[in-house]
Amino acid sequence: MSAPSLGGVSVPRGDGNTVVRLRRGASITDFADKIEANPAALVTVLFHLGEMATATQSLDEDTFQVLGTELGYLIQVVSPEDEERELLSSFDIDFDAELEAEGDEQLEARPPVVTVMGHVDHGKTRLLDAIRNTKVVEGEHGGITQHIGAYQIQHEMEDSERAITFIDTPGHEAFTAMRARGASVTDIAVLVVAADDGVMPQTVEALNHAQAANVPIVVAVNKMDKEGANPDKVKGQLTEYGLVPEEYGGDTMFVHVSALKGDGIDELLEAVLLTADAALDMRANPNKDARGIAIEANLDKGRGAVATVLVQSGTLRVGDTIVAGTAHGRVRAMFNENGDVVTTAGPSRPVQVLGLSTVPRAGDTFFVTDDERTARQIAEKRETADRNAALAKRRKRISLEDFDQAVAEGKVDTLNLILKGDVSGAVEALEDSLLKIDVGEGVQLRVIHRGVGAITQNDVNLATVDNAIIIGFNVKPAERVADLAEREGVDMRFYSVIYAAIDDIELALKGMLKPEYEEVQLGTAEVREVFRSSKFGNIAGSIVRSGIIRRNTKARVLREGKVIGEGLTVDSLKRFKDDVTEVRTDFECGIGLGSFNDIKEGDTIETFEMREKPRV
Ligand code: GDP
Repeated sequence: MSAPSLGGVSVPRGDGNTVVRLRRGASITDFADKIEANPAALVTVLFHLGEMATATQSLDEDTFQVLGTELGYLIQVVSPEDEERELLSSFDIDFDAELEAEGDEQLEARPPVVTVMGHVDHGKTRLLDAIRNTKVVEGEHGGITQHIGAYQIQHEMEDSERAITFIDTPGHEAFTAMRARGASVTDIAVLVVAADDGVMPQTVEALNHAQAANVPIVVAVNKMDKEGANPDKVKGQLTEYGLVPEEYGGDTMFVHVSALKGDGIDELLEAVLLTADAALDMRANPNKDARGIAIEANLDKGRGAVATVLVQSGTLRVGDTIVAGTAHGRVRAMFNENGDVVTTAGPSRPVQVLGLSTVPRAGDTFFVTDDERTARQIAEKRETADRNAALAKRRKRISLEDFDQAVAEGKVDTLNLILKGDVSGAVEALEDSLLKIDVGEGVQLRVIHRGVGAITQNDVNLATVDNAIIIGFNVKPAERVADLAEREGVDMRFYSVIYAAIDDIELALKGMLKPEYEEVQLGTAEVREVFRSSKFGNIAGSIVRSGIIRRNTKARVLREGKVIGEGLTVDSLKRFKDDVTEVRTDFECGIGLGSFNDIKEGDTIETFEMREKPRV
């Protein structure tokens, strides 16, 4: 089924319903393989559709859609989840089938996993410490506690000891970071609200995140020891967000606590267990190879990669081979939150693991494999997939420039911002002025997070979840963070003058912040002789008169001062018989302008590129 196509090349065409599945970050060559076409022919077709790409370059989904539509194929880009499933099934691993096969006889009760969230300064850290200090089982080392990212406590309820696991990174940043990676570790969220302060922006954010993830919430009304504590106000406020206290006929448990004095901790733990029992089926099969999620990891000078993992099902043992994200290795040693050595870890148990090849990311899943080779191969395949996906993500999620277009297309109606600055005064001043901008009909501006200090990985993660733009005022991100932002397509803007930031945001809201491009001339060449080639079209034998002629740059042809060819590209560039990437002034070369053949002796070929003009 071959038919002539654009540019005179022959490509097998689909009937408009032929589905072609491609992995993320696939190239033209991958597509060509699937439809048994010549990659070069597809490059040409794409070129005629106005996009330049090499045969092996990773393309994004939109570009494939354009190409697919032209050729009569329905392109389906495999989602990361499917990609992972397909990867695992190629190793004969199928967790869904395994779960389905498990019946009541295999499942045993497991402790709930809790994340503490709430507005800054409402006492999350203090509360986590209070719970831990009163409840953590004393370790061999006399209770020298370590922060490994999570801990487990025991609580006596109705004459039995019940365990609860707390994620020891307060705030919803950790929660969002994991959710951004598709991981759900949290069974229950404890929402901390200071009784003297009430519901604040991050309280709302936190409860939005929890509700979006379908995680039941227990409210800890904290700082009850303080004068001016007004728990009823908190209850009233939260009712508006769908958290209705039991005494008002709802099903959310509110507990009065003082993290400072250690009051109300038992009641809070009881509420967590009751809520978990009422809302969730907390069971897992402990008698199989372990699976779970990495919740924290770092590189330790002496010990190598150190990762805290939370086992979700099965039992992890020293000596097991595991793969966690793109890290793999044999579990050399495990420690609990007291620094004690442990040899096994069952469902809901957090443990620190030594022995991984590299540092996994928070939210990466881990599981035990039959042998080291499998673990390594899975890790390597994931790394390749990640890299390809990153290469393909050329487009930004949302940038200030395309905000008004996104509004027009109905994709967004809110410009979400994350503000980071060097001093809190500046951040506040910036936020104040931003919120005073007259945003106009139909759109709104929301500062979803603000803080002092460098732009962190958390900020970028939050930006990916909420499609936000990050504003850095006299601060920059660390290189690793900049890489992450680039990979995730998060727009970051840096300012050192407040009004410059305000101006840009204002223009973006009004849809007027367009990038400005200017043409920069690169070089000119005079055509001396035209060589005709049936294979390559006409080649202009030229001498470079100024600057440099480079391959793949934009070009136009002038004859007696008039433009006779526009929108061209230097498709091929040769010095004698050799392909070269550039030719300098006074040297001779052969220039091919693709399918543009109207070249004559004496013509001038002008090459240029479009550069974004810096804003002043
Ligand atoms: P986070 O930002 O939510 O983690 O808040 P922190 O745990 O760091 O607490 C913020 C401030 O509130 C600290 O100065 C704490 O000592 C104080 N604080 C926390 N809990 C209580 C409490 O129950 N009563 C009083 N009076 N102060 C508290």
